[in-house]
Amino acid sequence: MLQEEIYAAAIGTIQQRRRDAQTEQEQRTLRIRQEIPGAAALCSTLSETCFSVLRAAGSADRAQRLAAIRQRAQETEHALSELLTAHGYPADYLKIHYACKKCDDTGFVGGKPCECLRHEIGKAGAARMNARSQLALCSFDTFSLAYYKDLPADERGAMERNFADCRRYAANFSAQSGNLLMIGNTGLGKTHLSLAIANALLEKGFSVIYDSAGSLMHQLEQEQFSHSSGDTLRLLLECDLLIIDDFGTEFETRFTSSMIYTLLNGRISAGLPFIVSTNLTPQEIRGRYGDRVLSRLICGAQLMPFFGRDIRMLRASAQSQDRRKST
Ligand SMILES: [Zn+2]
Repeated sequence: MLQEEIYAAAIGTIQQRRRDAQTEQEQRTLRIRQEIPGAAALCSTLSETCFSVLRAAGSADRAQRLAAIRQRAQETEHALSELLTAHGYPADYLKIHYACKKCDDTGFVGGKPCECLRHEIGKAGAARMNARSQLALCSFDTFSLAYYKDLPADERGAMERNFADCRRYAANFSAQSGNLLMIGNTGLGKTHLSLAIANALLEKGFSVIYDSAGSLMHQLEQEQFSHSSGDTLRLLLECDLLIIDDFGTEFETRFTSSMIYTLLNGRISAGLPFIVSTNLTPQEIRGRYGDRVLSRLICGAQLMPFFGRDIRMLRASAQSQDRRKST
């Protein structure tokens, strides 16, 4: 999907929202006209107003006539809202309730894209990015602390804290949320917990992009060298949350090192959070990327050390034991 398609998808969503708001208002009006005696006449008077305005526009005494029409419309609206509240409805029940009060679901304010349109562009772009990656259905419910029960108490405690902190992070997420740096060997649950955060936030309507560092770098590199009008970098810099998995396993070039810095620094400058998971220790990160990248990763981030034995190995051995028992 190209940038124009992402834009068209976002505009389509906003326009549908506007139509839905209008349809709902028509249904509420129909209901009130039937339910409350006297309401139908007042509604008809109001909808007559625009015709009266058109008729008055061409006349010699239009200023006077328009003032009279306005006066009558105000009185009718007032009578209608009194009637509504008398019957237990909110006074603004018959107004159109747009989802975005800033742009009335048009997507534009003063000719510029509204915040809601930009948010939809981010969501459509994130959906495109995530479709390419393996956003498997990992949730907090399928994360089992049982795999860590044989660990020393301090390590088990750390894993329990990681789990609770990730849940809290997803529950309280906002643009002001801090960064997370998950450190530990492969197969200890880093990917599972970051995907659980991604899925929880996508469900809430945030734009979240999740991918491995290798895959992200590959896409950015392809775009860079094919000189295509790609928008991957912009999406990565502007989405609500960027999750980079397997940081440090990407192919190391001058391009990837500078791109990693651009991404981390760009998001920090924009005040937008990221989650990075890695098998590398802070010392190894410094050795490979230098102090600049290490400081961007660590500064202001919550460090989460992961402990345990490879869960995939534990799960596989448990399954083979079950099979042996059942035969
Ligand atoms: Zn808006």
